[in-house]
Amino acid sequence: MNDKNCENNICAHLADEDYRVYGSIVPPMFLNSLFTRKSNDTPYSYSRVTNPTVELAEKKITALEGGAWTKCFASGMAAISTAVLSICKTGDEIICVKNVYSGFQGLCAIQLKNFGITVHYVNAGCTDEFKNAITSNVKLIYLESPTSLVFDMTDLSAVCNIAKEHDLLVLMDNTWATPMFQKPIEFGVDLVIHSCTKYMGGHSDLIAGSVTGTDLSLEKAVLNTRTNLGCSISPHTAWLLTRGLRTLPIRMKQHQESGMKFYHGIKNHPNVSHVFFPGADDYQQKDLVQKYLKGTSGLLSLMIRGDYDRVHAALKTLEYFEEGCSWGGFESLYIMLNANDCQWNGKKEGCTMVRVSIGLEEVDTLINDFTSALNHIL
Ligand SMILES: *Cc1c(COP(=O)(O)O)cnc(C)c1O
Repeated sequence: MNDKNCENNICAHLADEDYRVYGSIVPPMFLNSLFTRKSNDTPYSYSRVTNPTVELAEKKITALEGGAWTKCFASGMAAISTAVLSICKTGDEIICVKNVYSGFQGLCAIQLKNFGITVHYVNAGCTDEFKNAITSNVKLIYLESPTSLVFDMTDLSAVCNIAKEHDLLVLMDNTWATPMFQKPIEFGVDLVIHSCTKYMGGHSDLIAGSVTGTDLSLEKAVLNTRTNLGCSISPHTAWLLTRGLRTLPIRMKQHQESGMKFYHGIKNHPNVSHVFFPGADDYQQKDLVQKYLKGTSGLLSLMIRGDYDRVHAALKTLEYFEEGCSWGGFESLYIMLNANDCQWNGKKEGCTMVRVSIGLEEVDTLINDFTSALNHIL
């Protein structure tokens, strides 16, 4: 890795020079909707299509993922739906991992179904299931590795090899790992998706998404779909995203360290029956962690002894964790899960599942706070 490709330098400086004016250390925000033809040299026309402030965020994400291009979107779901609609049409089929992000399951169950696009769900860790699900209509394999509730991983190289043999595209949601901990393009993935709302933005102050790829005809297709659907990111959001990205390496380092410490701090509590976490001592796919991940982030799910109401009441006593549905920000959060939110092996009777996002607070404070809440469960 040369200096230019180093993630710290990408986040701090890459492409800033292209957009700085008057020596401004931070490139300005181009909020304008249109660019006049007065200056003949402008590559821009209308901000639904392209915008310099949006391009800066896109260039940084491209370099971080090791791709050839990135397009940013008004949300992670806008990125996902645009990518899928750029590839699939009526009659096509998708192979998708079980326990994939719930928003994508919703898109499949309603909109894609209405358009006549069928989805086959397979176990993320069983490469043979991908192979067996291939039909002549399958166009796309949709991965999320690890998944973001129970953290099932997929053998990316193995699945990408199968995809190449059958001329299928592979799309992967890399929101959990971020390019700091996993670069799916290295292993053969065609399109990498992020909900930039989570770690990429990192401050819980924006909603955004991205699609990164290598193939230039796919770039054209994705840009065309974004333009026609009109789900472009606003320059204001893109500017905030770039600001968030500047601290991505250092934030992820801290989330990683704190996530690991938190796991070790609570794993032996008598009211914790299991922890779903790729960094866990008893994680079942350690070989895949070794092969693909440089870090295990700060998001984990706990099986806590006690029924839903008792666990919920105990967690309400937390001082530093708020109850909320997102993750990846500076703040610690937890969310209660229902048994039908996801499928996992070895359902535990009498337990309730809770997902925890470890923020940037002092980790010993977080461990103490969570331990005293766990002690509250009778
Ligand atoms: C949040 C999330 C999304 C959707 O992103 P939005 O920005 O909320 O549209 C997609 N995938 C994963 C893994 C997520 O956590």
